Amino acid sequence: MTEADEEDVPDIPVVCPDCDTRTKVPFPEVEDAIARHNRQLHDGDAVAAVDPDVLEELADFVAEDLGLL
Ligand SMILES: [Zn+2]
Repeated sequence: MTEADEEDVPDIPVVCPDCDTRTKVPFPEVEDAIARHNRQLHDGDAVAAVDPDVLEELADFVAEDLGLL
């Protein structure tokens, strides 16, 4: 694990098992992108989500900010 450069915004993979898609979204837009996808395609059901593997790696500095866990 390396120290993250705070100015280097990572792309976060968002996966949707129903759509069988995997999309990379810039970190600041992840929450909106997931909400929009689920609202438009899944009647607001929480189907799409951040890739769990990546979420685990990023959890230290992502989870608290976004409340994803
Ligand atoms: Zn979907």
